[in-house]
Amino acid sequence: MGRVYNFGPGPACLPEDVLREAADEMLNFEGSGMSVMEMSHRSPAFQGILSDAQQTLRELMGISDEYDILFLQGGASTQFAMVPMNLSKNGKADYLVTGSFAKKAMQEGKKYLDVSIAVSSEDDNFAYVPEVKGLAFREGIDYVHICENNTIYGTKFWTLPETGSVPLVADMSSCILSEPVDVSKYGLIYAGAQKNIGPAGVTLVIIRKDLIRDEVLPYTPTMLKYSTHSKNNSMYNTPPCYAIYICGKVFKWLKKQGGLSVMQDVNQRKAKLLYDVLDESNLFVGTAHKDSRSIMNVTFVTGDEQLDAAFVAGAKKEGLVNVKGHRSVGGMRASIYNAITIEGVEKLAAYMRAFEKEYKK
Ligand SMILES: *Cc1c(COP(=O)(O)O)cnc(C)c1O
Repeated sequence: MGRVYNFGPGPACLPEDVLREAADEMLNFEGSGMSVMEMSHRSPAFQGILSDAQQTLRELMGISDEYDILFLQGGASTQFAMVPMNLSKNGKADYLVTGSFAKKAMQEGKKYLDVSIAVSSEDDNFAYVPEVKGLAFREGIDYVHICENNTIYGTKFWTLPETGSVPLVADMSSCILSEPVDVSKYGLIYAGAQKNIGPAGVTLVIIRKDLIRDEVLPYTPTMLKYSTHSKNNSMYNTPPCYAIYICGKVFKWLKKQGGLSVMQDVNQRKAKLLYDVLDESNLFVGTAHKDSRSIMNVTFVTGDEQLDAAFVAGAKKEGLVNVKGHRSVGGMRASIYNAITIEGVEKLAAYMRAFEKEYKK
């Protein structure tokens, strides 16, 4: 089999150009005589890779000097603990619970802080993102946490909660780099790389510098303090060098595509191709409420588990892989991150139409 269209939610597909470049440089990176995997993280070559990656991301997302860019480990899941441990002053935070990752973050936060759920959409199996306009938060909280794009349920916050001077913390694992973002609206943004950035093993944290403090909760491990990583430019210990190198290449690739406004346009067109099929279909039903629909993860069902399984198996034969939905929603999910081409989405849309026609015979 040749290369497939991989609609998996993460680890997810990467731009083919990036993979080819990495392959070319595999044995000998820029005349160093070695692979990036074999290189000291203290070497000038790797220092260049790291600072290039940071600089390119700063340009792409328009990140001001008020923010630090950190490359950490432990996945987005470790941020569920690092955020409360580091941002706590008053020991209080409010969470919006719009999916299972948002809920996990909230539950982890509860171990350390007095946590309150500002709003939840669990009543409808997280099929929507609640209205946040005018949503009130408690007095004296240290931050408000959201999961901006709910990977499993295919929903997204299209309006941000108004938190005033309280820092907004966002898990952007599955929507980062999909569109331009006004970073200044956030205190902290984090994302596991394996969805829309690069390989698994590195977690991106964009944090406003005033939130990086030495006075964190007692017993916070050194490795879980943002200040440790900030002071050492993400090199307190050995960073995930190769993963950072690939992320840097993806950032450059995005710049070459024309940046995040261009990606937004492409991503909206891709999502529309699939949502149009769902809206016209007598077979497929989108599981997310229309006004909450994600442009990165498109979730749908036929209402018949056997038919869902036949769809997934048939798609695979067409080279359209990993379209099975998460077990908590069932059905199908097409993750259409930046590296998925319009052509790939067109193929999936055509397959959906053909499948429906066949079934309706
Ligand atoms: C995948 C995902 C996570 C978990 O990420 P890990 O890096 O595996 O810990 C958390 N939040 C969101 C929104 C995700 O999509």
